[in-house]
Parts: sequence; C-alpha cells; structure tokens
Amino acid sequence: MRRFFVSFLALTLLVSLPISAFAATPVQPTSLKDVQKKSQGISYWSWKKASEKIAQNQPKLGNITTQIGTRTVPDTQRTSEAVNAVSRLYANFEQPTELVVIYANYLDTEWGQSMIDRFCGRDCGYDTSSEAKNMCRSSQDCFGAFAARNQRTGAALMYQTASDEGKRQPQRVAATVEAHEYLHTIQDIAMKNSNYEQVPRWFVEGGANWVQAAAVYSASFSKYRSERNRIAAELFGSKMYTPKYLEDFLNPKSGFSWKSWDKYEHWRIYDIGMLATEVMTSIGGPDSFMNVFSKIGQGKSFEEAFESEYSMSWKQGVKVISRVIASNLKQ
Ligand SMILES: [Zn+2]
Repeated sequence: MRRFFVSFLALTLLVSLPISAFAATPVQPTSLKDVQKKSQGISYWSWKKASEKIAQNQPKLGNITTQIGTRTVPDTQRTSEAVNAVSRLYANFEQPTELVVIYANYLDTEWGQSMIDRFCGRDCGYDTSSEAKNMCRSSQDCFGAFAARNQRTGAALMYQTASDEGKRQPQRVAATVEAHEYLHTIQDIAMKNSNYEQVPRWFVEGGANWVQAAAVYSASFSKYRSERNRIAAELFGSKMYTPKYLEDFLNPKSGFSWKSWDKYEHWRIYDIGMLATEVMTSIGGPDSFMNVFSKIGQGKSFEEAFESEYSMSWKQGVKVISRVIASNLKQ
C-alpha cells in the first residue's frame, strides 16, 4: 500500500511539472529567412522575449479610475495585474496618462452608455453612442469590451460587459480581455490619429490577442500556449488554411481597407492575426510589433514599417509567414 502511495505521488508530481522542464529549449529563429527552418521555436521565443521585457521593466501607468455599475459584479479581480503586465511589456512606448475602466452588466447598460457619452462626447474618433447597447442586448446576449481614446484630451477608456455565463469564460476570469483592451490604447497613441484603414485589421486585433496571452501568462510558457491554443482552436485540424489561403487573408488583393476582411468569419482576424504576430515577435521581440504602429504614426505605410522592422519586404515576408503558419497548424 505504501509503495502504491509513493508511486502515485511520483506520478502526480510528474504530471504537474511543466512540459518545458523536460523539453530542450527550441532553437531561436533570428530572421524571416531562417524562421521556417526554426519554426518549432516560434511560440517559445515570442513568449520568452515578452516575458523578459515584463520582468525587466517598471510599469508606466497613468491615473486609473475604475467605475462599476451599482448592479454590476465586475468580470474579474485581476484587472490591475493584467494592465500592469501590458504596461511593463510596452514600457518603451507612450501610455495613457488617464485611464477610465468601466464595468457594466445588462441592468446597468444605460448608466454605462451615459458614462461612455460623458467620456467621449464626439471626440473618440467614431460614433460611440450605442456601444453599450450593441454589446449587451439582454441579460443573456451580453458579451463584449472595447477601448477608446478621447482625441482631444488624450484620456483612454476601457469598457467591459458580460452576462453571468460570460463572466465564467477563461479570458474574463484571467483578465486577458482587459490586457487586450489596454494594449489597444497604446497602439492608438502610437498611431497618432493615423487612419487604421492603412493597417491590416488582423494586425490590430490579432496583435492585441498575442499581447493578452504573452502579458497575462508571462510567468508560464505552458499557460501562454494554452491561451494561444484556446484563441486559435478553430484553426487546428482544418485543411482550409493553406499557405495560399493565409496569404490572401493576410495581404488581400483589395488592400488594407477593413472591408477586405468582411467576407471572413469574424474570429479569423483574431486567431490568424495572433499567429502571424507570434511569428513576427519571435524574430523582432515585442517592441517590433509596436514599432510598426509608431512608424505608421510617423507617416510610413504598413509595408515600409514592416520592412524596416523585419528586414524583408512585406510582399516576400507575407509568403514566409503564411507558409510557417500553415505548416505549424498541421502539427
Ligand atoms: Zn480588440
């Protein structure tokens, strides 16, 4: 009996040890020229470089005010932890000096909208007058988050809403949603009011998804992988995602106008976009991702910014990224 107990314990320990304790560190890709050969290292090195940044840097947070509807239970207790991690990850970039974080459930939707109206007026760059209602139409049909920035004052807003069931989803519990939204506020400052229609939609949203996984799970590669695989779950095991399909998706012939992605299922900009960002950051590190936005904010095109960060033309680079994602999805 004693022996059984000991071996059972050993087995439990074995199972609970992270996989990385056994696997050798994969070879690090260093450029778009060798990334295909070293594609086994993409996930690990994109996470590792982010994890090092977060450990080295201090947060660069401004004043944060959290507002919770009187009938609302916030989605998570980990908001400040998640926002802090993103702030450290992007400590080399300007961040909002004022941040308002709002939580509103269905019953507080009108209040939530009035808070958005008060914050944005007409200065958030688009029509925000029905955002709260659009994300929360009933107590069941209620799930969403968005970030906005008042272009006059520079202050940033993050708004989160979810049904009771929605609150139990892993991205809500772990506050990866909040990490994602906070990242959008940094992207937006880097863009300096440039037009988002010149940036691929997948790079804005998929990039934010890569950041949410890398920032919130910076302490554990296996947890990063789980979040990444949760986001990309619909892509695995499908024959649809050939290099050709992925290239058409990442670099549409119709250009970067956001309408180019309307014909795809909504989640593709998030999951394929995240995998493409992972390839890019495995080579250039997390700052390379934000540098692209900064360079666009300084007047460069996406193609020019990409080439200066990744030392390959976008036309060639997108082919490499598409091939690498397609072959990694097969594994
Ligand atoms: Zn987003």
